[in-house]
Amino acid sequence: MNANKASSAVELVSLTKRYDDGEPAVDQISLRIEPGSYCCLLGPSGCGKSTTLRMVAGHEFATSGDVLLDHRNITWLPAAERGTAMMFQSFALFPHLSALDNVAFSLKMKGASKTERHHKAKDLLERVAMGHLAHRKPGELSGGQQQRVALARALITQPRVLLLDEPLSALDPFLRIQMRAELRAWQKELGLTFIHVTHSQEEAMALADLMVVMNQGRIEQAGTPHEVYNRPASEFVARFMGGHNVVHTNGQKFAVRNDHMRMSPGGTSDGLPARVTDIEYQGIYVLVGLRAQDEMGDQEVSVMVPEAQWAEAPVALGEHVSLGWTPAMAHGL
Ligand code: ADP
Ligand code: MG
Repeated sequence: MNANKASSAVELVSLTKRYDDGEPAVDQISLRIEPGSYCCLLGPSGCGKSTTLRMVAGHEFATSGDVLLDHRNITWLPAAERGTAMMFQSFALFPHLSALDNVAFSLKMKGASKTERHHKAKDLLERVAMGHLAHRKPGELSGGQQQRVALARALITQPRVLLLDEPLSALDPFLRIQMRAELRAWQKELGLTFIHVTHSQEEAMALADLMVVMNQGRIEQAGTPHEVYNRPASEFVARFMGGHNVVHTNGQKFAVRNDHMRMSPGGTSDGLPARVTDIEYQGIYVLVGLRAQDEMGDQEVSVMVPEAQWAEAPVALGEHVSLGWTPAMAHGL
């Protein structure tokens, strides 16, 4: 990681938010995010990602617990004094202002002179390779260029941590993938700490150094994408990440990646009996849906078969097969 001297560690200590008398929206979460790292908060809608981010930003205050930036306790500081900045969904640029005035906007609010704010805004636009388009309005810029203006606008307050709440979710799929590669490249280039909220595990896997999977206000698992994908800590994580089957054998519950499961003709004595319920051709592999019987009853599972292997031993809808896997590939939950 290429941490910038001006990037900060973020620490959450038993952080809790209650909006009302019901279940807490965020429930005693503790987490350390290293300076200069790209952290993704990942989880289904309503699990507390935005609330967590807003408590770091200062747009919402904790019910209990603390938020630390390096060694500074910022739990009760106003947003503007924290050293954080927020980048919003779809960039939220002002359509009637030029790129330069969009970037300079927060300095105007702080009462900086026109010369000073234009100088700083120009400087930042140069930094994101947008200096030559400073006069253009958002409508005259491509999606990628708009994102760079939004980034420059967030950076003008010289934040030590950049906070992004679903910045890509309103974009079409093609642009979303392009923009996420750009975000990742800028984060590396700037060496700033990024905390990015998303409900897409694919997006989190592509971006994160530290992936934090949340469920019902709690952290289910935090680790590198590789750790979380290969060693899901709970059934929730295994199911949410996708590509895993959860099965019960020998009185235990296991997660097995669907590319690590094998189908063999039915009637064999070992392996889980299963029936093919769905076949989807997906290009380089075929995704086979099955209904398997394990010790807990019927389970929906899937097996990913590489195309070449499929060509040699295809199965048919309704066929009875038996499912097997190398024990080392079964991860206990
Ligand atoms: P996420 O960003 O993961 O979708 P949120 O942090 O927005 O989740 O919401 C977490 C929980 O808190 C949800 O149950 C949501 O309904 C509730 N919540 C969020 N904001 C408010 C609010 N301002 N007032 C009351 N409840 C809220
Ligand atoms: Mg949200």
